Amino acid sequence: MPQLLSARQILDRLVAFPTISRDSNLALVDWVEEYLAGYGITATRVPNEDGTKASLFAQVGPDVAGGVILSGHTDVVPVEGQAWDTDPFVVTERDGRLYGRGTCDMKGFDALALAAVPKALAAGLKRPLQIALSHDEEVGCVGAPAMIDRMRRDLPPAAAALIGEPSMMKVVTGHKGSAGFRTHVRGFEVHSSILDQGVNAIMQGARLIDWCNAVNARNRAADPSALAAIFEPPYTTAHVGQITGGTAHNITAKDCIFPVDFRCVPGETPDQWEEILRTEVARIEAEMQAIRPETGIEVTPSFAIPPLRPETDGAAEALARRLSGDNATHVVSYGTEAGQFQERGYSAVVCGPGDIAQAHQPNEFLSVEQLHAGERFIDRLIDALAE
Ligand SMILES: [Zn+2]
Repeated sequence: MPQLLSARQILDRLVAFPTISRDSNLALVDWVEEYLAGYGITATRVPNEDGTKASLFAQVGPDVAGGVILSGHTDVVPVEGQAWDTDPFVVTERDGRLYGRGTCDMKGFDALALAAVPKALAAGLKRPLQIALSHDEEVGCVGAPAMIDRMRRDLPPAAAALIGEPSMMKVVTGHKGSAGFRTHVRGFEVHSSILDQGVNAIMQGARLIDWCNAVNARNRAADPSALAAIFEPPYTTAHVGQITGGTAHNITAKDCIFPVDFRCVPGETPDQWEEILRTEVARIEAEMQAIRPETGIEVTPSFAIPPLRPETDGAAEALARRLSGDNATHVVSYGTEAGQFQERGYSAVVCGPGDIAQAHQPNEFLSVEQLHAGERFIDRLIDALAE
């Protein structure tokens, strides 16, 4: 038997791997694989296309249906430009808080899931515990879909998926989805004194950006659906957060590039909003091409995260409420992998230790109290799976 590690000790190890999304997470995955192998558990790796990163999943307990998935991500956001008082990649305990990048979002939950393994083995589970650790969550939930598809193929179906994003151990049953598009407007350069013979990419792009304003105004004015009403704001939003383009004040701009992001309420999908965007793009493009046929607007999807829809009599919700004692209604506006599990047929909720306000911040921390609350939650889960 390997040396028994507490959740806190595992957290120390996980935080020490600087798994910023742009870098490889394989050293962490190696460590987890070895840890699980120490208990005789074979993990399955799901590598990304170029093999530089991987997700990993494993099952503890009998190979039967009705188990529970504990889902976390292994990557963290960068620390550059942030004023940290401690080394972000060393867990530092101070005044009841565990400081370090990822302690809250969400290696704390990953550590809880891994620390549960020896307990689950000792408890003699009747239904399995499935652990799912993804890569590239922070750059648009890119890694999870391939992992979830493999889990569906290789493992007996689980009754519930608990996604441990920070929620202060509250049961979050819904979140918005999001969809991002890189938009490249290609114009035609002429001197601005004869602008009627050119196509100014910035001024055409501005029409599309103002269309986003109109979408927001229209959605705000409409009566929200029952599903949307619990969100803040209770409608789908369109947003442009960056823009580049142009070379001089007196040249019609050849290029204008900006992202268009939608945050969509449950009941609406990223795909629907892509179609609505493309319809407007085609309308503007036709007018541009009437002046210069070589101009146009390219729209490239950069990410799409499905919303998490509150389930009617959902198994994951019932389980998480029973384990946490939380019976209030909570929805959040940040996206998670929960919608991706749900889209693939799993009952899913978000429930994990820590406060989302800490995520991505300098001096990110997880309180010791929240880590312990998470431990109690997982202990009750193991009891439930052994019943
Ligand atoms: Zn996260």
